[in-house]
Amino acid sequence: MKVYFLGTGTSQGIPVIGSHHSVCLSNDFKDKRLRVSIWIHWEKHSFVVDCGPDFRQQMLAANCHDLDGILFTHEHADHTAGLDDIRPYNFRKGALPIFAHERVLKSLKKRFDYIFETENRYPGAPSVAINEIENDRPFAIGNKTAVPISVWHGNLQVFGFRIDDFAYLTDVKTVEEPEIEKLKGVKVLVVNALREEPHATHFNLQEALDFIALIQPERAYLTHISHLLGFHKEVEKKLPKNVFLAYDNLEITI
Ligand SMILES: [Zn+2]
Ligand SMILES: [Zn+2]
Repeated sequence: MKVYFLGTGTSQGIPVIGSHHSVCLSNDFKDKRLRVSIWIHWEKHSFVVDCGPDFRQQMLAANCHDLDGILFTHEHADHTAGLDDIRPYNFRKGALPIFAHERVLKSLKKRFDYIFETENRYPGAPSVAINEIENDRPFAIGNKTAVPISVWHGNLQVFGFRIDDFAYLTDVKTVEEPEIEKLKGVKVLVVNALREEPHATHFNLQEALDFIALIQPERAYLTHISHLLGFHKEVEKKLPKNVFLAYDNLEITI
């Protein structure tokens, strides 16, 4: 299984529009981060987790011809705003399966009413096949199983996903004990690390490192990164040797 980091930035992306911050002005390609998302693919199967505002350019960069579905972590715009751009996949294969919590589906129906319209649909509108997901109910994606991991993004419930020995968690601030159990034995863990300063709804770097130490994967990658975390090159030097900063267009094999 391959995991391709489509985007590794926090909600504004890096560079931030109009910013004169040195990280935003960096010429290192690893300091340029689109909104957070991954593409998971194996054999003939192909799924993305989240579909933010950079979805179109991300799928072009990854050269992703076929897509079997989108797993949503939560409804925030940096994770959902690209949903209009699924049409090339619709034209090839019909309605695109989406997997989301009931609350997230409700939000998507409000934001993208025309996609969910059943009467008087515009013929070229994007189309989705709805799959509601719940905690403690693993679901099939292709010939694999995705285990939802319910975590807290401040007061908002968010899903991470475990697929085999890989787990992807973003926009996490706290994780309760029964969910930690579900992560035992993962070999590769992706988790969010916003910046060094604490934040109300996201892990900072130390919280992410503590969480990784608790789960003990063989390798961990940090994502959903703010320009305030610093230069990619500098931050990487400070990390334990099995922890890496993800960067856009990095592809790893699980
Ligand atoms: Zn986010
Ligand atoms: Zn969020």
